[in-house]
This record gives sequence, structure tokens and C-alpha cells, in this order.
Amino acid sequence: MATHRARAEIDLDAVRDNVRTLREYAPRAELMAVVKSDGYGHGAVPCARAARQAGAGWLGTATPEEAFALRAAGDRGRIMSWLWTPGGPWRQAIEQDIDVSASARWALDEIVAAARATGRTARVHLKADTGLGRSGCQPADWPDLVAAARAAEAEGALRVTGVWSHFACADEPGHPSIAAQLDAFGEALDQAGRAGLDPEVRHHANSPATLTLPASHFDLVRTGVAVYGLSPSPDVGTSAGLGLRPAMTLSASLGLVKQVPTGHGVSYGHAYHTAEETTLALVPLGYGDGVPRHASGVGPVLVAGKRRTVAGRVAMDQFVVDLNGDLAAAGDEAVLFGPGDRGEPTAEDWARVTGTIGYEIVTRISGRVPRVYLNE
Ligand SMILES: *Cc1c(COP(=O)(O)O)cnc(C)c1O
Repeated sequence: MATHRARAEIDLDAVRDNVRTLREYAPRAELMAVVKSDGYGHGAVPCARAARQAGAGWLGTATPEEAFALRAAGDRGRIMSWLWTPGGPWRQAIEQDIDVSASARWALDEIVAAARATGRTARVHLKADTGLGRSGCQPADWPDLVAAARAAEAEGALRVTGVWSHFACADEPGHPSIAAQLDAFGEALDQAGRAGLDPEVRHHANSPATLTLPASHFDLVRTGVAVYGLSPSPDVGTSAGLGLRPAMTLSASLGLVKQVPTGHGVSYGHAYHTAEETTLALVPLGYGDGVPRHASGVGPVLVAGKRRTVAGRVAMDQFVVDLNGDLAAAGDEAVLFGPGDRGEPTAEDWARVTGTIGYEIVTRISGRVPRVYLNE
């Protein structure tokens, strides 16, 4: 009998295998394992360590605080952090040898000031907006950004280690924006070169582009979701078809199993009623653990050897499944998702029925669920 309420097992061998597989997809590029948002919910530090062991030359984070946490855990390799706001901890990043990103003059100016204050040379990746329309520098402002960066380089305040951008629709292979973004990136690189910049790494590819578009690999690929074994989208393929193995298995111990009569309402709002006399099992996980409330009535769960469906509403801490008369006992395991090889659903199955993406299903699993690491 299981002795935990719930847990998310993270198979670090799967992370290592996925990194090796991704390196085979992009054999001429270096690989950055993106570990933002606590490693997409898997735990940034253990996953970063596993990714390094499998040859990840770079780690990527959104916030600088996420990068500092990796340094505090002892990582000494290249780390890039790209989500900055005015007044951010540039000095700390420079002192900790973290590569930073600038999409605009304000950021470059703050980096130069921080570098002067530390007496060190900042490592900066200039980000072009090649069409995503989110962060990145618009083409009209790019000549000014590269010229200012070149001047700061000449002064010794910084070194432009990267020129980079990010795709909008790489998870829809063949989308016309993909070729347009690559053309715009080529133009941004030419202008940077003409301004005298010679970046160590040019990078544009996320997981879907790494898996489907070799022309986007350049010197470095930034892979996130695929490191954790999830396919970026059904259009890109299934995990298994891509050679990836989902690293997270979310399970819980049944808190109660009981017989109820025909027509019994189940959970808040009585959105479900038993069709006959049956057995209900209580799964002690809810939206407080990151199980989407949108899974009410549709979320798949493996209980007592069969796939079942969430009966009625997902509450903050628990939900119910109807075992349709099958037998189970309190303490038996319920598996919400995993790699799928024991017949359990996958995070991709949960994404489909709740109208989201696998990325969100794993990332939203909250800190209330203990992470248990396998194959450390
Ligand atoms: C999250 C992120 C990635 C990784 O994307 P995946 O689709 O998970 O591989 C790469 N680059 C940037 C800028 C990101 O924000």
C-alpha cells in the first residue's frame, strides 16, 4: 500500500535520455536546457543537473532569480536569463557570470552601468523581434541597439555573446510565419555583423523547431518542454513517436472507497449523479495541487487497473472517480498521468480534455505535491 497522499515522481533518467535525443536532433548545435518555472514543474535544480550530465552546455531561465538559484546549487556552467525589467539585478547577474538579454536600449544602458560598477565585462545576448511580437527589438530599432552594443563592447563594458530570437508558431510546422521569422533573423544577423558584432552563439529554436526544422538550429537550441519528455504539440508528434519519454508521473493514494446508491449526487454542484448503485473512490488531489478545475467530468485517471474519468467537479483538495462497481481500497494508487506505459493517461491526454497544452499541465502542479526523484 502506498504511504503518501500524493506525489510527482520525476525520472531523471528520462531527462538525461531526452537531452541526448535532442542533441541527436541538432548535432551541430549546442543545447540549452530551459529550466524556467522550476523546470516546468519538475524541479529546476535536479533537472538541470541531469541535463548537464547528458551534455547540456547551457541552462536557460526566464527570471534572474531562477538563474541565481542554479548558481547557489553549485552550477558553474553557462546560464542565460532573459526576462528583465528596469532596475533588475544586473550587477548580481554579471558577478555570477550569467549571460543576460537585452531587447531595448534601456536594458543595454542598465547593463553598461552595472558592468562599469562591477569592473567586469557583461555577457549580453541581443534579442531581435523577428515576428513573435512579444519581447525582442523591432527591426526599426535594431540598428541603434547593435550600434550601441558595439560601442559598449569597444569600451570593454560588455561582450555580445549572442544574437537571438524566438518563434511564434514553430509548433505548427509549415506555418508561413516560420520562414518569415528565419528571413528576418538572417537580416538581423547581417546588420549585427555589419556593425562589427561577432556573437559566439546565434539562436532561434525552441523544442518544436529543434524537433522539426534543422535550418533553425544555428549554434544553439533552447529546448524546454521536450527535455521533460512532452511533445510541444500534436502537430509535431507524440512523445513516443519523437523518441521522448515523459519524466513526471503524478499519483495519489485513494483516501476513501465507498458504496453509494443509485442517483447519488457527487461533489460540489452535483454535476454528476451515479447511474446505479456503485463504488466511488476519493482522490486527494485538487486545484490547490494544480489539477485543473476544467478537468471536472473529463480528466482521465488510472484506478484499479482501468482508466476512469473524474466524476463531477474537481475541488481544491480532492475529486471523485466512479469505479462502476469495481473493487478498490483506501490506499490504492490512482495515477493521473505519466509516460503511459502502465496504461495511465499522459499529460498530453490531460491537455487535450482540458483545452490547454501539456506545458501547462506539468508546470501548474503546485508545491503542495512533493517531488520524488528517481535515478538521481
Ligand atoms: C520557454 C522558452 C523556450 C523553451 O520553449 P519550449 O517550447 O519549451 O522548448 C525557449 N526560449 C524562450 C525564450 C522561452 O521563453
